[in-house]
Amino acid sequence: MKLLAFLALGLAGVVLAHQEHKIGYQDTPLIPGTKWHVHDGLRPQPRVVQPGEAGSPPSDAVVLFDGTDLSHWVRFKRGTPAMWKVENGYMEVTRGTLATKDKIGDCQLHIEWASPNPPSGEDQGRGNSGVFFSDGNYEVQVLDSYGNKTYPDGQAGAIYGQYPPLVNASRKPGEWQTYDILYTAPRFGPGAKLVKEGYLTVFHNGVCVHNHTRIMGKTDHRVAPRFVVHPPKGSIVLQDHGVPVRFRNIWYRELKGYDER
Ligand code: MG
Repeated sequence: MKLLAFLALGLAGVVLAHQEHKIGYQDTPLIPGTKWHVHDGLRPQPRVVQPGEAGSPPSDAVVLFDGTDLSHWVRFKRGTPAMWKVENGYMEVTRGTLATKDKIGDCQLHIEWASPNPPSGEDQGRGNSGVFFSDGNYEVQVLDSYGNKTYPDGQAGAIYGQYPPLVNASRKPGEWQTYDILYTAPRFGPGAKLVKEGYLTVFHNGVCVHNHTRIMGKTDHRVAPRFVVHPPKGSIVLQDHGVPVRFRNIWYRELKGYDER
């Protein structure tokens, strides 16, 4: 009788345990470098995010420009109010490079831009602006590269002075273009030592133009890249290069590690 009761208790325990862990496994090997088993049902469920409808941000995005005002922006380095023109749902370069008030580190950035139509100028003079990370240190070039030849590491989508885009996915002047960018900030340790590489992945109009590309250093004109120490988080910066380039629908999502909610 005792034995039967013992067996029944044991069976109940197994059933209960089974009910608690309906999904996944704990009898599988550990995934190297983690505390999780392969197919571990106890691993944190990823947060639910409502994706945006075409052209709108997902539910957990921070909107930096929704077409109405420049409240998320200041003039770069001065901190004075941003003065670009805002009309018809876009902002347009007038005077002064802009910086976000938010300090942003590892992130997914969506931004749309259009170069002037009809175009004027050529080479680096046509439709030049730029999207920078970490307080102006790393530029993804904005340029009218539709039938406009320039040095490859300075055309639209280039990581300026370091890498040309893998392909030229440019639309015509005046047409709205998109950048979807994944930025991983480089990290610096004691003695200004680079302790973790930084990376950029860039989609231009949905076409991959950089695939987890290692940042070589600060992007600059006619200067070899070298790192300037900066914090992990900094402003995203939009360049005034003297051309009335337009921007709209700007948002970012902070990127965290696996199992971090
Ligand atoms: Mg530029």
